Amino acid sequence: MFQLGGKVALVTGGNGGIGLGMARGLAQAGAMVVLAGRDAAKSADAVKALAAEGHKADAVEADVTDEASVQQLVAEVLRRHGALHILVNNAGTNIRKAPDAMSLEEWTTVMDTNLTSAFLCSRAGHGPMKQAGGGKIINIGSMLSIFGAPYAPAYGASKGGVVQLTRSLATAWAADNIQANAVLPGWIDTELTRKARDQVKGLNERVLARTPAGRWGVPADLAGIAVFLASSASDFVTGTAIPVDGGYSIS
Ligand code: NDP
Repeated sequence: MFQLGGKVALVTGGNGGIGLGMARGLAQAGAMVVLAGRDAAKSADAVKALAAEGHKADAVEADVTDEASVQQLVAEVLRRHGALHILVNNAGTNIRKAPDAMSLEEWTTVMDTNLTSAFLCSRAGHGPMKQAGGGKIINIGSMLSIFGAPYAPAYGASKGGVVQLTRSLATAWAADNIQANAVLPGWIDTELTRKARDQVKGLNERVLARTPAGRWGVPADLAGIAVFLASSASDFVTGTAIPVDGGYSIS
């Protein structure tokens, strides 16, 4: 029930970090994974790495904040691979500032990259998934879907929105046999959080002290949940938001 052979998965921001960790899990389960990002060279390297491990992988250059680019992305996936069964809305960014110091442009950048992108990609993927007889949408939230942080007004708002968007998609498209779920990663060691460790004093120590598992997560920690939510094992699971956080959210 965890087999993904014959399935086509699109992972936004799949060329690095958590996205690549999830893409690798989906590929290991047999899916053809298509990585979408703006940095074509980084995507090509990720495809090469997956192919060297014996996986089926491809990349399409796209900016998920741009409606036309998202339309082209999904059209290109269909042109090259004939179908879309699994969509992972993972592309994301953060600008760490107090609300009183944040410009509208900064707010919009974070909201467009983290939240509007998930709406645009899901909307573009709905038709092809319906045509395929069903599909799986996996949206990436955060611990800041649940908690507040003084330096993350736009990021927290976008990630809270991702959970509510997930619930809307789940209810709207259940009749099309499309399940939509969110994953809420804890603190995972990636480029994004390496920057946070530099910018937020004491963050590393606080994360280690509060995470019962006693360590930062790594992208591979997200592979299992991706396979579960992309496979028929989760056919009666929809609209949920599942923490993958080493226990951070319960401590
Ligand atoms: P990274 O910075 O390593 O990856 C971000 C990815 O998003 C990159 O692949 C980047 O590719 C892509 N991306 C950013 N903007 C765009 C855009 N406009 N269009 C297309 N792709 C874009 O970060 P993480 O792996 O840490 O983060 C991945 C997701 O996980 C994000 O949604 C983040 O909020 C979330 N998350 C991360 C946590 C952590 O601890 N690391 C914790 C909780 C949630 P490119 O530059 O090529 O466009």
